[in-house]
Amino acid sequence: MSTEKSEQLFEKAKTLFPGGVNSPVRAFGSVGGTPRFITKGKGSRVWDADGNEYIDFCGSWGPLILGHANEKIENAIIETVKNGPSFGAPTLQENDLADLILSNHKYVERIRFVSSGTEAVMSAIRLARGYTGRNKIIKFEGCYHGHVDSLLVKAGSGLVTFGNSSSAGVPKSFVDETIVIALNDEEAVKAAFEEHKDEIAAVIIEPIPANNGLLLQDGKFLRALREICSDENALLIFDEVISGFRVGFEGATGLYDIKPDIITLGKIIGGGMPVGAFAASEKIMNSIAPLGPVYQAGTLSGNPVAMAAGKAALEQLLEPDFYTAMKKKTRKLVSAVLEHIEEKEYKVRMFSIGSIYWIAFTDRPSIRSSSEIDPESMNIYRKFYHSLLNNGFYIGPSGYEVGFVNAAHTEEELAEAARIINLSLDVALA
Ligand SMILES: *Cc1c(COP(=O)(O)O)cnc(C)c1O
Repeated sequence: MSTEKSEQLFEKAKTLFPGGVNSPVRAFGSVGGTPRFITKGKGSRVWDADGNEYIDFCGSWGPLILGHANEKIENAIIETVKNGPSFGAPTLQENDLADLILSNHKYVERIRFVSSGTEAVMSAIRLARGYTGRNKIIKFEGCYHGHVDSLLVKAGSGLVTFGNSSSAGVPKSFVDETIVIALNDEEAVKAAFEEHKDEIAAVIIEPIPANNGLLLQDGKFLRALREICSDENALLIFDEVISGFRVGFEGATGLYDIKPDIITLGKIIGGGMPVGAFAASEKIMNSIAPLGPVYQAGTLSGNPVAMAAGKAALEQLLEPDFYTAMKKKTRKLVSAVLEHIEEKEYKVRMFSIGSIYWIAFTDRPSIRSSSEIDPESMNIYRKFYHSLLNNGFYIGPSGYEVGFVNAAHTEEELAEAARIINLSLDVALA
């Protein structure tokens, strides 16, 4: 497989952007080698600048649940942009997308659109603080919520700790109000509320943590969070930027049937265009400007082209059996790999939920918190990754990234994908 053109383009990019990229993980830092410059996508496939073809499981990091260049989304974008790309005034496209979401999502009553997942989370945190009049936020180690200052934290040592920032440029005072707790640790959450009585505004969690491996949580733990927050008058925020519209139209909220106070959305919601959103009850959302005291705004928020793309995408997700079919497909892929793992007696696990999967080089029956991931396993992942890539299988370049099955993947492609995964396991574990 030649990567000459991608190499040249990456050299050029390095003279333009820090590290040659506009988002760090794209740089292939953790797997080594040259990032592929993607020139085209169609259905389940992408092509790079050297003309190499890949079956894609990255899906632009989650948004493309319908595959690349979906015709209905493409047409909606083209038709809408003909009338101008942005007005900064209310448009009917905003009404249409919001109506579609709210009338099919029984857990929320009002929504506000923004332009990214990070922005959605940042606004949700401000809303929670403004609504409760409290400052502290509980987050979990291993959950990613975008690059919001106060949430770029890693746990200190000890059960309930205030975070240390994991990024330069974030003053210590910005993370002083952030409490970091290990996932799946109900007792620690209770202890935090005891220690900081009436100070905690919200608990934020990815109900399906999928940015640091796939750390599937026990439904019992999520229900406990709901109960604790209700008892303590704190808000529960489900960050569904990745799980929203992915495991079901109502996301993890619907899957577990747990009603959080605020839901953040992103990725799939824009059909591949930059859209994020946060949604809640009418009562909570009334705190947002111009109705309430919590300020939040955006020049390009509710952009009509992005709204039209989102609507064209979400309409397709509402077709009967859409999610059942996605799950069935994913199961097929997963079972073809698990069969191979079992046969070869590899110490490898493949976890999945809905159309998300993650391969972990471990023999633990489950991984529910980030400390259970063996960092050494990433050395094996590197070998595994390059074998995938060289055999025409594209996925995010890190062992902590999950894979996404999309609606355009055919049975044959998934069988081919399983074959590539299995031969790559053989290469990596040889
Ligand atoms: C991707 C993601 C974000 C950040 O969204 P951006 O659009 O990249 O800013 C936040 N939370 C979760 C759970 C995500 O998966």
